[in-house]
Amino acid sequence: MDLKQYVEIVKDYPKEGISFKDITPLMNDGKAFKAAVDEIVEYAKEKEIDIIVGPEARGFIIGCPVSYSLGVGFVPVRKEGKLPREVIKVDYGLEYGKNVLTIHKDAIKPGQRVLITDDLLATGGTIDATIKLVEELGGVVVGCAFLIELSYLDGKDKLDGYDVLSLMSY
Ligand code: IMP
Repeated sequence: MDLKQYVEIVKDYPKEGISFKDITPLMNDGKAFKAAVDEIVEYAKEKEIDIIVGPEARGFIIGCPVSYSLGVGFVPVRKEGKLPREVIKVDYGLEYGKNVLTIHKDAIKPGQRVLITDDLLATGGTIDATIKLVEELGGVVVGCAFLIELSYLDGKDKLDGYDVLSLMSY
């Protein structure tokens, strides 16, 4: 299935010069959404993962159906102040702006094989920060799966040495 037909490109959003890839039409179409999730499920099966980690908010949308399908757990990575119990945190830079990400301290057991999911790889800052959180807890990142990779932003350079699946590339 050609998934790109379900991605709307919105010029100058959220600010001038940014060409935003809107995945909500893909999520809106049951067949397209299922096809995308199924591809990531197949990838995750090969990697024999124990748990999925996804940054808010669209990392949840991709990661949760994969986790449900495989019967493995899902761990949310959230902005500061959103998780109720003890967390570890990391600073990171976004394609537009700055942020802090947190994860519950007991969310991952040392040695667990982790798949990280998000909707889109841009500069790689979000995923790099998520990897740092997972590794600080002793998790082993065996793969990173995205719907979309913006290859012109070289986010993959930050993921050198990690296995990356992206279903679409721009
Ligand atoms: P990065 O940290 O620069 O790789 O940016 C990736 C993060 O920003 C992801 O969590 C995306 O949800 C979000 N993001 C950046 N650009 C876009 C876009 O064009 N469409 C949708 N999300 C985006």
